[in-house]
Amino acid sequence: MPTCSKCDDKVPKVYDCDHTHSEEYCVECYTELHYYLTEKNND
Ligand SMILES: [Zn+2]
Ligand SMILES: [Zn+2]
Repeated sequence: MPTCSKCDDKVPKVYDCDHTHSEEYCVECYTELHYYLTEKNND
């Protein structure tokens, strides 16, 4: 099972994109990351 690079949890599926700098994040960390990115762009 893959491991999230951020929270170190073993998860069934990991996600990555440019924002994770090629690291693999669990869905929660991935969503949280994009949540903050969206917030930032909202000003
Ligand atoms: Zn995580
Ligand atoms: Zn992204």
